[in-house]
Amino acid sequence: MVIDNKKIAIVGGGPGGLTLARLLQLKNADVKVYERDENKDVRVQGATLDLHEESGLEALRRAGLTDKFKENYRPNAGKLKILDKKLNIFLDEHASEESYAEDRPEIDRAPLRKILLESLQAETVVWDSQFISMEKQNEGWLLHFKNGNSYYADIVIAGDGANSKIRPYLTDIKPIYSGVTMIEGNIYNAEINAPKLWNLINGGKIFALDHNQSLLFSTKGDGTLTFYTGCKTDENWVKNSGIDFNNKQQVFDWFKKEFSTWDKNFHELFQSDEISIIPRPQYHYALDQHWETSENLTLLGDAAHRMPPYAGEGVNMAMQDAFELAENLTNNEFQNIKSAISNYEKNMLKRASEITEITLFNTEMLHAPNAIENLLKMFQGEEI
Ligand SMILES: Cc1cc2nc3c(=O)[nH]c(=O)nc-3n(C[C@H](O)[C@H](O)[C@H](O)COP(=O)(O)OP(=O)(O)OC[C@H]3O[C@@H](n4cnc5c(N)ncnc54)[C@H](O)[C@@H]3O)c2cc1C
Repeated sequence: MVIDNKKIAIVGGGPGGLTLARLLQLKNADVKVYERDENKDVRVQGATLDLHEESGLEALRRAGLTDKFKENYRPNAGKLKILDKKLNIFLDEHASEESYAEDRPEIDRAPLRKILLESLQAETVVWDSQFISMEKQNEGWLLHFKNGNSYYADIVIAGDGANSKIRPYLTDIKPIYSGVTMIEGNIYNAEINAPKLWNLINGGKIFALDHNQSLLFSTKGDGTLTFYTGCKTDENWVKNSGIDFNNKQQVFDWFKKEFSTWDKNFHELFQSDEISIIPRPQYHYALDQHWETSENLTLLGDAAHRMPPYAGEGVNMAMQDAFELAENLTNNEFQNIKSAISNYEKNMLKRASEITEITLFNTEMLHAPNAIENLLKMFQGEEI
């Protein structure tokens, strides 16, 4: 293998980085994952994830973790309701006569992380390691972390997410603002803290769309209701709005104004104090982005191709990157690491470009005046 006797540093223990670590360890590679989180028990925010057959689920299959996935996925969590702002229901997969096809099964982020972590050899993940910088040393890199530690690696793989600190060592291509800013909210113990919406969502997902705005909801197995507002705003709206996003009341005041024509039942989102709120302006990269291949450095997942979540592809792409990169580095078809990375990047960038294009289409569609009509057409396989 081109990676025999090489020390590999994966920076970032998200789904992409951990999947890659597992797949490389199955081939006896020398891998460490440097993760910013303090330890494995840090609360994992964000909605449930649907895994797709050819990408997320294929990665778990190759990692030998399908049985673990089956023990932890959440049947029926993908059942969708489509609503307008007045709570009129246009589609309800809970009520449908047709049997529900679980073709994109849902798993929460925390159990997915746990499954991947438990599949790794002891001490693979070096917690509390926030990457700060690196410099070339011998044939590889010396990486520096905020806690003062430094480690050498022959190969560095960036899995450190959308605001990757490693990406600039490979390319200076900047992300492009999509035109939509989301606010993510996680309401803990939502059966008590947002009971009407908890009943409405019924363990599944809701897309509420109207007036160029979106409200997306999903539940998690731990009783959390996650929601995302989606609004067309300026790129710097988060900074310029004057809202303190740590102050729930200020965000609620904004919501009441911005979503003033929506049913008042949605105010329940801000009723309790058991909530975390994170503003998330949505960015993507140019469809034709590319860079010169490095001999010992590459990217995967959001570090390579961040995009809005409106096609539900982010985690699936990250996990597909992981298995394709692992395959290239271990299949003995390449003469050296650089040609293995080059082939991986060529295919990854093409695939990411196609998926980004679909995602941007969905982003526009869900924030257009006739969003519901278009979404229903899309589900029925009709042209929009
Ligand atoms: C609001 C929102 C909703 C989404 N919904 C969906 C969805 O429904 N379906 C879907 O498929 N995808 C969704 N995504 C996208 C999905 O979360 C990402 O695409 C996916 O998690 C990418 O995986 P990753 O491993 O590349 O990065 P991440 O999951 O971002 O993981 C990066 C890891 O690196 C660590 N890290 C970051 N910086 C450093 C550093 N400097 N040093 C060390 N470690 C570091 C982080 O702590 C983290 O553990 C959504 C994203 C957002 C923002």
